[in-house]
Amino acid sequence: MRLFHQIAELRTYLHSLRQEEKSVGFVPTMGALHEGHLSLFRRAKADCDIAVASIFVNPTQFGPNEDFQSYPRTLQQDLQLATTVGLDAVFAPDVEEMYPAGFQTKVEVEHLSRPLEGIHRPGHFAGVATVVTKLLNIVQPDRAYFGQKDYQQAVIIERMVRDLNIPTEVVVLPTVREPDGLALSSRNAYLSPEERQKATVLFRALLLAQQALCRGERNAEKIRKEMEAFLGLEPSAWVDYVAIVNPETLESVKTIGEQDTVLVALAVRIGTTRLIDNMLLTAQGASLTPMQLRRGEKG
Ligand code: AMP
Repeated sequence: MRLFHQIAELRTYLHSLRQEEKSVGFVPTMGALHEGHLSLFRRAKADCDIAVASIFVNPTQFGPNEDFQSYPRTLQQDLQLATTVGLDAVFAPDVEEMYPAGFQTKVEVEHLSRPLEGIHRPGHFAGVATVVTKLLNIVQPDRAYFGQKDYQQAVIIERMVRDLNIPTEVVVLPTVREPDGLALSSRNAYLSPEERQKATVLFRALLLAQQALCRGERNAEKIRKEMEAFLGLEPSAWVDYVAIVNPETLESVKTIGEQDTVLVALAVRIGTTRLIDNMLLTAQGASLTPMQLRRGEKG
């Protein structure tokens, strides 16, 4: 596996592969790799001739009081993991390589960036959209892979790629979970053993929404309130938001029609660790993957 720190060297490597007409799959990450990331790497490798990942903790997507400094950085271990799944190359630039002196451009996806995470993390998605644009321009992949775990991020990137005519297919893969339902996340490393137990409350709240739909509840506000009340029973859980929204527009849903699929999304702090999770649920309570939703399947 090749490791690049410089944009120019990565470009030279990719240029020679493109001349051989190799297809390129790309997975942007912030490192501290886990099975969620590896599922994207495996898919990139299965779909494309060459699989490339980036590992870059992007400062511009962190707020001033967020965890940029403390975000886990485990490059040596990450490289070993990447090798085990057959990744061909890793791009791990430093901040100056990505944002040299004088940098002043921003990519903003307007409406989709406002609700949910956008309310609690102002500027976050402009940071994400900008760095992903840069990475897609650097790598010029045929396909780029993202996780449902960060659902809002994925729809923002799909929109951005269409709006800016970026010639890359965006693929969104399902959330990989621990056996007890906790979505894998690099930030789970912040949790104490007790907090780790309590963190399953996010998944259990999503299951509650699923059960409510299964028993015929169609009032989104009632389901939301039920989830909030449940989360309120966990003293170390602080709810940032619980939302039931249209999965394409991310606008709030009031009544869930029989043919509808909704995104149930939440952000909860367990102690000082902020976790997010979501499910795509049909009115009947079936859980869909983003690709099933896009294909119009009903679960
Ligand atoms: P990150 O390193 O957290 O920026 O994540 C890099 C990519 O991995 C993003 O597209 C995430 O949505 C995806 N990802 C993170 N956690 C998971 C997970 N548990 N399952 C699937 N994809 C994930």
